[in-house]
This record gives sequence, C-alpha cells and structure tokens, in this order.
Amino acid sequence: MPHLEIKNLVKKYGDFTAVKDVSFAVEQGEFVVMVGPSGCGKSTLLRSIAGLEEISSGEICINGRDISRDEPSDRGVAMVFQNYALYPHMTVRQNMGFALKIAGAPKREVNEAVERAAAILRIQEQLDKRPKALSGGQKQRVAIGRAITRSPDVFLFDEPLSNLDAALRSQMRIELGRLHTELGATMVYVTHDQTEAMTMASRIVVLHDGIIEQIGTPLDLYNEPHNRFVAGFLGSPRMNFIEARAEQSREGMVSVSAPGLDGSLRIKLKAGADAPAPGEKVTVGVRPEAFGEHDAGGWTIKGSIAVIESLGRETLVYLDGGQVRATDSESHEGYFAVHRTRQITARHGDGLTVTVDPNAVFLFGPDDETIAF
Ligand code: ATP
Repeated sequence: MPHLEIKNLVKKYGDFTAVKDVSFAVEQGEFVVMVGPSGCGKSTLLRSIAGLEEISSGEICINGRDISRDEPSDRGVAMVFQNYALYPHMTVRQNMGFALKIAGAPKREVNEAVERAAAILRIQEQLDKRPKALSGGQKQRVAIGRAITRSPDVFLFDEPLSNLDAALRSQMRIELGRLHTELGATMVYVTHDQTEAMTMASRIVVLHDGIIEQIGTPLDLYNEPHNRFVAGFLGSPRMNFIEARAEQSREGMVSVSAPGLDGSLRIKLKAGADAPAPGEKVTVGVRPEAFGEHDAGGWTIKGSIAVIESLGRETLVYLDGGQVRATDSESHEGYFAVHRTRQITARHGDGLTVTVDPNAVFLFGPDDETIAF
C-alpha cells in the first residue's frame, strides 16, 4: 500500500479548475518534489493534502485511509511554509513544542522531542531565543524543527528555501537531504526551482496547468522527458530548441532540416514513436552540454559570442547564430546556450562554431511529444 495516495483530485475555484483530476502515489520514505511554473497548481495540491484547501472531488489517502475530509490537525501531516510562520512572542523551544503541548503531551515528552529535533537541526544554542533574534536560515530550521517534533506521517514543504540567499539555499538542500535520510520520513516538497528538484527528489512530479506532465526520477526526466515541456523545464540553462521540418522517414530513422542550416540531420526514432510525415513541423532539442566541437555528420552553427560567463572551472556561452535562432530560449534573444566544462578565453563578439550531433539530440513531434532521445 502506498504511504500517501492522491486519487483523481480536482480543485476548483469558482469556474476555474486549478487541479484537474490528478492521481499519484508516494511510497514510505520517498522524497517527492512537485515542480512546475507559477500557477500550475502545485501549492494548491500541497495545501489540499495539508487540509488548508477543501477539495472539489477525489481522495487523499494516508496508509489507505481517506483523510480528505479530516481536520488539518487530524491528518498526520506537518507543513513547513516559505515564510516560516513562527509565533513571534514564543521562544524557539515554545514554538517547536507548541503542537505537542496543545495535543496534551506531558511536559517531559514535549521537552525531549524538542531537544531531539534541535540536536538534529543543530539549533540547541537557539532554543531560548525569540524568532526575531534569528537569521533566516535559523528561522527555517526552527520551522522544520516544529514539524519534526510532531512526528508526522508525512512532511509537507511549500517552497521552504525561497527566502534564503543562494549559499544558504545550497547548504539547506544538503541538510534537508540528510534529514530525510536520518528520519526515513515521507516528504512532499513544492518548489519552482528545478535545481532543488533535481538534487533532492527521489521522484519528481512535473505539473503544468493543473495536470501531471510526467513523474519519474530526476535522471529519468532529464534523459527521457515525455514531451517538450518537461524537456525544457528541467536543466539549467534549459534545452535549446530549433524549429525544423521532417523530410522522409525510413526504418526508424527520420531526416529533418531547418532554415539556415546546411544538410539534414538523420535521427534515430525511439522505439514505438510515430514517424512524422514529410513536411510536418518538428523541434530539435539540444542540451547546452550536447553541442559538439567537431563535425559528427550533423549540423554546424557558425556564430559569434553574444555573452560569455566564466564560472572558473566551467564556461557558459550564449551564441548568436545569426540567421539560425533558438526558439523559446532562456535568454529570449534566440541565442544558443552552450556549456563547456573548461575555461574558455574568448570575448564578446569572437567567432565560435558548434556542431549538432544527430545522436545527441532530442526530437519532438508535431504535438510536442518526444519521438527521439
Ligand atoms: P506559484 O509557484 O506561483 O505559487 P502554484 O503552482 O503554486 O504557483 P497555485 O498557487 O497552486 O499555483 O495556484 C494555481 C492556480 O489557482 C493559479 O492560477 C491561481 O491563480 C489559482 N488560485 C489559487 N488560489 C486561488 C484562490 N483562492 N481563488 C482563486 N484562484 C486561486
């Protein structure tokens, strides 16, 4: 039996349906991250599990029991919010022990639970301070500690790291991963940050307009996205897309051509994929790290460097391909994002040629489904 199961969940706000018939299951001890662009319904889904939203239809089961009509405090879940939601007039100790105290736990038990959580989170020194005397990172630890002391069945996190600076965010990512391993707990985590999803999740749920686009491990989603949306959402910088046309297909191979690029790319279709008809619109996807430096029997893009970002060990180049443009690109200028794991001493305006290896691309059919990877 799954630990948490969402069955045909629908959430409407008036005429607008924010979550459209979503179903998925979370196993005991999994760390599931729900990602998607703003407005895709991820917070609504999480808040529905927490009992902060009344669902329109469907079921939410924990250990096989439908909890979707229970009071939030009776569901066996604990939620950690982006803005910490600490009680300002209470000390850290009181904040962390509050839920247990209200539930009528004896004082000694509350104290032990607080001390244990504080030790896990390394905030023993802060227990007698009030929230205003803490840094953002410390406040977030207290908010997490408050969830731990309740020993919930399921932990829910709503963008808990968004208010922290980049260095602290990356440190907290590691700590949350450690916490998850240490507690062996089931966690459902919402973020719009695909780095958090890629690094922390056992499985990722990609949401878009209230539906699930794909569920899988981070590498499944990265290597075998079902469609152009998922392919574009995971990866930073994101995948480069080139609009193309199918030519002929034969024996599981399809040739595609694109304006401004010489020759055609012969791509092997994935098993079971429908070959596009000649003339149909397709999209070639190239990850920034997949651009080659030597001709591999594919396309060559001769361009100039629009932007170069040296990160020390690695370099990111935004390449202006002249007539050849990336569509829907991160830089919004139609530049290609090219990633190299070495230092490049070049400057804005310098020429750069990259190649597209037909064995290293993704191909999306006329309906944006992945037909080659
Ligand atoms: P974000 O990353 O911006 O928080 P999200 O994916 O978490 O986005 P939700 O907050 O779940 O999105 O909202 C999903 C959709 O439901 C949005 O279009 C939003 O405008 C709408 N919505 C959310 N809450 C309400 C509400 N109380 N009344 C009406 N519409 C709402």
